[in-house]
Amino acid sequence: MIRAIVGANWGDEGKGKLTDVLAEQADLVVRFQGGANAGHTIINQYGKFALHLLPSGIFHQNALNLIGPGVALDPEAFLNELDSVLSRGITHPRLGISDRAQVLMDFHVLLDTLEEERLGGRKFGSTKSGIAPFYSDKFAKTGIQVCHLLDKDLLYERLSASLEKKNILLEHLYHHEKLDAEQLTEKYYALGQRLKPWIADTTWLLHEAVQSGKNILLEGQLGALRDPDHGIYPFVTSSSPLAGNAAIGAGVPPWAIKEVIAVTKAYSSSVGAGVFPSQMFGEEAEELRKRGGDAGEYGAKTGRPRDVGWFDAVATRHGCLVQGATQVAMTNLDVMSYLDEIKVCVAYELDGKHITHFPATPTLQKVKPVYEVFPGWKTDIKGKTVYEELPKNCRNYVEAMEKLIETPITLVSTGPHRDDICVRSAK
Ligand code: GDP
Repeated sequence: MIRAIVGANWGDEGKGKLTDVLAEQADLVVRFQGGANAGHTIINQYGKFALHLLPSGIFHQNALNLIGPGVALDPEAFLNELDSVLSRGITHPRLGISDRAQVLMDFHVLLDTLEEERLGGRKFGSTKSGIAPFYSDKFAKTGIQVCHLLDKDLLYERLSASLEKKNILLEHLYHHEKLDAEQLTEKYYALGQRLKPWIADTTWLLHEAVQSGKNILLEGQLGALRDPDHGIYPFVTSSSPLAGNAAIGAGVPPWAIKEVIAVTKAYSSSVGAGVFPSQMFGEEAEELRKRGGDAGEYGAKTGRPRDVGWFDAVATRHGCLVQGATQVAMTNLDVMSYLDEIKVCVAYELDGKHITHFPATPTLQKVKPVYEVFPGWKTDIKGKTVYEELPKNCRNYVEAMEKLIETPITLVSTGPHRDDICVRSAK
């Protein structure tokens, strides 16, 4: 059985925690897109971890964790993350890296940083991890695949070709010194040798796992609204975080993905630039930001304060729709317990009319949120594990959101720890 765990919103919905929980039953956990540009926070018996590249199944001895061909693999980031996890008592996580995955190089980070500086006020909120230049190279067919790292001559040839245009840009657009293909070849060949023990044909491996009915978890990064096609373009990421792309980025048949679990918070949060209709401001926002997540709403990768706001049912329904969600996991419900009243964005006002679909960005920038107000529950629910024991107003809130987003909410997370979760049977 294959399940995908993906984000229904702007990212940071709590996918890492959910993957860690569900990985218990998984034989394989696969990352299918993105790179080290975002973080999944996981809190379990080993401590607190911010994983960027490693799949969230590494804490389970039985799970084989794969980096699929769709991932942007930064070898140094990968090795550092692995070292830090090993140094904290995780004994030999089982790992595999697709030989077809592409390598995020130092110059992608450099180009990303130089471009954000050049754009100044017009920037898109990049984490400067090199993701946009990386995917540009991949689709321009000038990328470096993991398998290229193992052949020095081929690596040099590909790097020299890739640097032809980049060096012109570096010198004349960014006024930066040029890069040397030979030096880069030495560095990345050596890194390839270090990665060698994990490099595998994961496509074939997954094919066999599907054939033999293994439990496979596909782990998404960021959320539906950051999808380049269905999100808030251009304030998006450069690879599709949708479950549809999980089939491609991991390498499994689309028909084999039986469950798509879209994760959403009980409120909204967004880090980086973009459009966010139900955003809160001032003290109201600061209060929620301080209380959110496990240690306030600050980016796991960047430490940047996240924008926070009321639950946006229009955006979340869109997120569920483009994800093809079969069910939803709602996280951070415990965070809302302090509120007397809870607003929910149920529609957008556009030119005096109410709309309930999620429009393209230029229109989205003009809408105003239409709120419905729900009573709070004013009772601490942190760590609760039985849904029926949650206060009535709290259950009413979950059930009202479920209707609004037109997708069953089957999991309700009541705290950042692995065990803080209520399972609801699907209706
Ligand atoms: P991801 O990228 O989707 O995995 O999300 P992040 O890890 O970036 O952000 C989610 C934040 O919410 C982290 O700080 C988690 O520890 C925290 N978290 C996840 N579920 C819950 C929950 O139910 N309650 C609380 N209070 N925090 C949660």
